[in-house]
Amino acid sequence: MLQDASQALIVIDVQYGFMPGGGLPVADGDAVVPVINRIAPLFANAVLTQDWHPADHVSFARNHAGMQPYQTLTLPYGEQVLWPMHCVQGTPDAALHADLQVPQAQLIIRKGFHRDVDSYSAFVEADRQTTTGLEAYLKARGIRSLYLCGLATDYCVAWSALDARAAGFEVTVVEDACRGIDLEGSLARAWEQMAAAGVQRVQSAELLATAA
Ligand SMILES: [Zn+2]
Repeated sequence: MLQDASQALIVIDVQYGFMPGGGLPVADGDAVVPVINRIAPLFANAVLTQDWHPADHVSFARNHAGMQPYQTLTLPYGEQVLWPMHCVQGTPDAALHADLQVPQAQLIIRKGFHRDVDSYSAFVEADRQTTTGLEAYLKARGIRSLYLCGLATDYCVAWSALDARAAGFEVTVVEDACRGIDLEGSLARAWEQMAAAGVQRVQSAELLATAA
């Protein structure tokens, strides 16, 4: 095993809702599954996240009269992109992809369950106040370095990576184990912000080569 006890793999939102045919499909989203399955055995520690919304969630365009998906609305905590309905609690759309193989995962963080606040980040909800508890969990377990993968690069992965850096973790994003939504240049912008924050960027082959 390459990685040691101070490192963890964080698998972001590998759910049917973000796969082709899902509520909020990410192009080629299912391509991340075999890549994540290849790198997962390198890690003793792993955490999964799961977008987990009530049906009346504030991030759904259908819950705002006259609004369409991908339009932006100003909410009390700031700008919110309105999405098609996705990952509603307990539905097949919210289920983790059945082919995902990270059996050693020790924690599943569900996020976005507060009706009036979205949460792209695995650490802090979109009001930038409410914590998911993940930072405290990882620190209590002595984990200092995180490897992020999953969906979508420019939203939940990027926000999680930036919050992890702000919380003092070393952060690496495994680029080919992610796919982006890329709404009006959001993918390039996310990589710029992550680079500026000191987030490292690697390919899965580099990780696997160092473990060989
Ligand atoms: Zn969501």
